Amino acid sequence: MIEFQAVRKQYDNGTVAVQELSLSVEAGTITVLVGPSGCGKTTLMRMVNRMIEPSSGTVLVGGEDVRRRDPAQLRRGIGYVIQQAGLFPHRNVLDNVATVPVLDGRSKQEARRRASELLELVGLPQELGNRYPAQLSGGQQQRVGVARALAADPPVLLMDEPFSAVDPVVREGLQDELLRLQDELDKTVLFVTHDIDEAVKLGEKVAVLRQGGYLVQYAAPDDLLAE
Ligand code: ADP
Ligand code: ADP
Repeated sequence: MIEFQAVRKQYDNGTVAVQELSLSVEAGTITVLVGPSGCGKTTLMRMVNRMIEPSSGTVLVGGEDVRRRDPAQLRRGIGYVIQQAGLFPHRNVLDNVATVPVLDGRSKQEARRRASELLELVGLPQELGNRYPAQLSGGQQQRVGVARALAADPPVLLMDEPFSAVDPVVREGLQDELLRLQDELDKTVLFVTHDIDEAVKLGEKVAVLRQGGYLVQYAAPDDLLAE
């Protein structure tokens, strides 16, 4: 579903963020990119939705070279969740989800109904819909971020350290919720973390990167070699 073919990225200042690597992410799985800060995880992720272009090599989504896709249309098929949920501070929770472009095209009532379903899907209590983001805990904000990313019903979800800003107990709850959701929705998820325990828990496949943008292992968690 997502394929990196001999992809390399060198930024304008000369930094090589990703050494030439190939990696294939199966549809309907959670694949985790794990490694220390600065090893190229975010760079790889952003090449999938064309926020960054590779210096060489090709990225395919759904079998098609992303360069041949219109970026806006490509991104409609790819939900993106980041560490700071990035919610609109001046809109309540329900409207944070209801005003994503794909829902915004519907009647207000219909958009809110769908937003409400999505919030339920991610396990956010209904009565929190009227609150503003600042009135939610970090974990609740992340749930809203996930609901918003699901609004377009994208086949692909990119999640960049989505649970890193919350405390360990809440993080575990969010991880369990993601596994449950994945079971139900069958998305193709590319998940970035620097936490190996999180990688092993969530990933059907885990790609281990090391400083300098090198891919050192790509395997099912049980087959990862201890390092
Ligand atoms: P795989 O090669 O892993 O089996 P597919 O290429 O069969 O995955 O993709 C599954 C379906 O999802 C295809 O119909 C494809 O067109 C569609 N699809 C994949 N990625 C996207 C995307 N980003 N946006 C919209 N549709 C997509
Ligand atoms: P990670 O997500 O694993 O922390 P990144 O992909 O963010 O790693 O960064 C990989 C490397 O590329 C790092 O050395 C980082 O400093 C560098 N880098 C990231 N973005 C840029 C940029 N826009 N310009 C120059 N260097 C960058």
